Amino acid sequence: MGRIRILSDTVANKIAAGEVVERPASVVKELLENSLDAGANEFRIEIEAGGRRLIRLADDGCGMLRDDAMLAFERHATSKLADVKDLLSIATLGFRGEALPSIASVSRLLLETRSPEEQSGTAVEFAGGKLLRCDEAAFAAGTVITIRDLFFNVPARKKFLRSEQTEIAHIASLVTHYSLAHPGKTFLLRHNNAELLSVSPVASLRERVFQVFGSQILDDLVDLGDRNRDLNMPLDHDAPPDEPARTRRFRLRGFVSGPQVQKLNRNSIYLFVNGRLIRDRLLLHAISAAYHNLMPAACYPFALLFLDCDAEEVDVNVHPSKTEVRFRHGSVVHDFVRDTVREILMAQRPASNIPAPTPPQPGAGLPYSEFSQRIESMSFAAAAIPSAPIPGDVMLDAPDPASLPEFVLRRPISPEPRFDFEPAPPAASNSKAPIPDTHGPLFPDAQILDPESLDALTDLRPLGQIHDSFIIAAGRDGLWIIDQHVAHERILFEQVLAQRANGGTESQRLLVPMVIGLSAAQQIEYARIAEEMDALGFETEPFGNRTVAVKSAPAGVPAGEIEKVLFEILEIAERELRRASLDDVRRAMAASIACRAAIKINTRLEPAKIDWLLRSLAATSCPMSCPHGRPIALRYPTRDILKSFHRI
Ligand code: ADP
Ligand code: MG
Repeated sequence: MGRIRILSDTVANKIAAGEVVERPASVVKELLENSLDAGANEFRIEIEAGGRRLIRLADDGCGMLRDDAMLAFERHATSKLADVKDLLSIATLGFRGEALPSIASVSRLLLETRSPEEQSGTAVEFAGGKLLRCDEAAFAAGTVITIRDLFFNVPARKKFLRSEQTEIAHIASLVTHYSLAHPGKTFLLRHNNAELLSVSPVASLRERVFQVFGSQILDDLVDLGDRNRDLNMPLDHDAPPDEPARTRRFRLRGFVSGPQVQKLNRNSIYLFVNGRLIRDRLLLHAISAAYHNLMPAACYPFALLFLDCDAEEVDVNVHPSKTEVRFRHGSVVHDFVRDTVREILMAQRPASNIPAPTPPQPGAGLPYSEFSQRIESMSFAAAAIPSAPIPGDVMLDAPDPASLPEFVLRRPISPEPRFDFEPAPPAASNSKAPIPDTHGPLFPDAQILDPESLDALTDLRPLGQIHDSFIIAAGRDGLWIIDQHVAHERILFEQVLAQRANGGTESQRLLVPMVIGLSAAQQIEYARIAEEMDALGFETEPFGNRTVAVKSAPAGVPAGEIEKVLFEILEIAERELRRASLDDVRRAMAASIACRAAIKINTRLEPAKIDWLLRSLAATSCPMSCPHGRPIALRYPTRDILKSFHRI
């Protein structure tokens, strides 16, 4: 007798479950995709214990007919494909007919469903793949699937599950992102009875992004708009020579972050191809390529991209969990995505196109007030700009500080172009020779410090400070302007992280412990991150209900700011922990501490301090931008200075 046997369905399903059901989030993904395929508009998801104890999804989709409700649990039973031809152009999210039998084989599953076509509904119950019952029952139209005790009969799998927090974080991220793909639909997600996500239908992706992430993140994002392009597809190798080139329409929508948002991993890149959430190396590479030179290598942006194309251009039947795709013309798609994202990033770049100067009056330089006004507009908004120019023939003449406008900090990064000056009207000039280029920028190519110019940073010669806020320095490659606050912020940020890594964050003991009251939400966050705060230099202790006593704080944070930093950190934890890794959260906390402890603008600095600041900045690993993404330095290349003076 031969040795090969056909496996029973029970065993086959369990094997398939190994591929399809990796963790609770994969179950949620399959259920959500089924509900979407069923045309549902409302998705109510309940999770308990990170999905181990309970996963329930109720939808208002088309439901199942009695016979189908049973058939759905047969292997390879699907309503979505009829024959092999359909595999070439899959328009639904599911098609393998594997999910339900796989999930049923590793859990206790209850399906309650009713199609509007039938009077009564059906309840089907499985445990470990065995049918327990199939009854007629009264239900509202739609489907409710309840999965309990996931992996109860696969102890090996159960062991691999991570903490409840990790598993719910995966689920929350998944549901969040499907909610972004479907702004017109309602999504509700509850974990252990606490609401994690609740969004009602809105008209646009932008509004959904706002609902989900809030305005702060939205501010850091650039909207790609709706970009359609007809692309010529290369002919297949075996195409007849006279076959005309085919064009296919590709559409890319979504949001990407500006280069100032720098994530340590790719977890914030979400890609949808024809509505399907996928992970795809080709597209990930295209995105990285779009940011090439705009952000340090090994940093990644936030991206939420929807690529739509002809179903024939993409093969989704590559991986059992359907998270990978293969494009028929990979390089065309790659270049389209890279170029589209790059284009929008370049267009949005806060390139320092310093505006057209007022043509120089004979014998007079550009008044300081105007110069300062321009500098200001790069990161600051002036509350009151004096209208009368301050006389003076040297641009950088130290002005009387009292006559200068007050600086008001604006949001660090805003997606709107910030350098939208009207060119100043040309003034009459007495000089005989026409001054060429009067509309040209003052410094045509003032640059935000890029990685290539780092070298020059090491031997800057400080010249002074303007408005007690910016350091002016001569470099071998031109004139530099450095924002003292953000420069110091960068230095402290790296210092805090380095100390944290070595286990010795500097902290200062408070004479009297500071007692701070917390809200319920803050209390939860505090409990979660108390250890990390401790490692960052906050020695705290719970002090009765919803109150903590702060005994020490990170060195350098002024006493008056300690409470603010603490609240900021709790807020970061709340916002970030669900999506970001602990590492990201730690960086965000360090950034908050650094910001509070850094030298403020409007602070006069001794020359020695300026020297120290420049040297320390040069020694940081990323002196281009502060941890929040603001540029630290502007550079006016010598070449452009020469050009502006018509010397070359
Ligand atoms: P697939 O999605 O690949 O077809 P599944 O095992 O996920 O396979 O589902 C099997 C079938 O069960 C689907 O083809 C669909 O007909 C039906 N089904 C599953 N979930 C739902 C739902 N929420 N609403 C209506 N029908 C569903
Ligand atoms: Mg399915």
